[in-house]
Amino acid sequence: MTWRRSRYLLLGEERYRDRAGRTVRMAYSARDASMFALDEGTAARLAGGGADALASLDAETLAGLAARHAVVDTAEDELAAVLTGYREGSDAAGARKITVMPTSYCNMACDYCGQEHFKAPVDNARVERVIRRVEGVIADPETEEVVVTWFGGEPLLALRVIREMTARFTAAAGRHGTRYYARLVTNGSLLTRRTLRELHDELCVRALEVTIDGPEAVHDRRRLKRNGRGAFHRTVAALAEAVREGTVPGMRVGIRMNVDEQNEDTVPDLLVDLACLGLASPQVEIHPMPVHSWGNDVSAVELEARRYAQREAEWLRLARSLGLGIPTMPGAVKRTTCAATSRRREILDPSGRVFACSEHPLVPGAEAGGVVATVDDLTGAAPRPAGQFDDWYEQVGDGAQQCGRCPLLPVCGGSCPKLWREGHVPCPSVKYNWAERLDAAALGMGYRPVGAA
Ligand code: SF4
Ligand code: SF4
Repeated sequence: MTWRRSRYLLLGEERYRDRAGRTVRMAYSARDASMFALDEGTAARLAGGGADALASLDAETLAGLAARHAVVDTAEDELAAVLTGYREGSDAAGARKITVMPTSYCNMACDYCGQEHFKAPVDNARVERVIRRVEGVIADPETEEVVVTWFGGEPLLALRVIREMTARFTAAAGRHGTRYYARLVTNGSLLTRRTLRELHDELCVRALEVTIDGPEAVHDRRRLKRNGRGAFHRTVAALAEAVREGTVPGMRVGIRMNVDEQNEDTVPDLLVDLACLGLASPQVEIHPMPVHSWGNDVSAVELEARRYAQREAEWLRLARSLGLGIPTMPGAVKRTTCAATSRRREILDPSGRVFACSEHPLVPGAEAGGVVATVDDLTGAAPRPAGQFDDWYEQVGDGAQQCGRCPLLPVCGGSCPKLWREGHVPCPSVKYNWAERLDAAALGMGYRPVGAA
């Protein structure tokens, strides 16, 4: 067998001294989502990349590199292998993910949000139709696990509906031996000690994503409740108490920060606040995200991708120095790009309409064209009909998308087919700041830059 460097291997330029005194460079294999250090000689040969340079490596070193997919058989078509993995992950019948929107209303009105919210009374017949769809999926003998994501609008405005649905889902899961758990995406304004406990203890919520956009004054200006009150203090206090007192063990808490020109300078203050308020915990992960278009025009405030990535690298270093959890490099290979690229995933709105893409419901101009079915059309656990982006891997495979040439494809998947189609470039920040991220990881591992005193 002859070996070549994987097209999905990233190699840092900086040299570090590891704990044993070796000079090393950082590397990241996107096919394995693994980060590791390489001695300088091996790194230099990989940087050359050719089969001749690699042939001079000893068998043990090559076997170790091959195990990480850092080198591959020259005969392997790596793009085809990665796309096969995506197709298999997207078609896997055992793992079903269903996003349920229990309400179309939100108690906030953020400028950059592309959704249009409205109040509607709960229609019990529609709730029942949504429940039956999820029960049908849970009952299918092929289904091993169902993950429901509560999404909105603001899902906690419909806590009564969530309770009713969860009771039915967990009963069905018990009857059919299917694993069940939930995630919740919330603006955080309705979180209290009691709600967090209920979400954890009774509603099977194992992951929470809360958006905090800045220190108190900034968050409360950008994410103002319709009643004119801010929610920063109450949200952060409830989360910090739950984390400190261990009342929601095992629940992953993600704090998303939507960043644009109006709040980019305040991110460091927010990081300091979160650490001081007690959220530097292994249970909590910080996710800064650039504000992007949902079909609405955010061009006046959107940050240019490279500028965002540069600033994010600074925030990452600060966050880590404060003990906050913030991922350096992606920690898992993706099974599918997003809900829109797997017919085993679907979004159910409060009226029982089925969507493939999570940014179609409630979005004016996109909603009508995004409906792929109603829950009544779907029998048992039948996969949803194809949506607008289910041909994504064909587009990547035939070279129509630059993702087919990108070293991050195994951990990114192309980010967002919808944004590509609308003419935006949705590459995540790691595309532009992976080298700085590798450097942050090296420092976190206790490596010292070569040349440092
Ligand atoms: S296409 Fe984009 S917006 Fe739609 S579900 Fe996928 S990532 Fe989300
Ligand atoms: S979206 Fe960007 S980073 Fe992701 S695979 Fe495509 S080109 Fe690469």
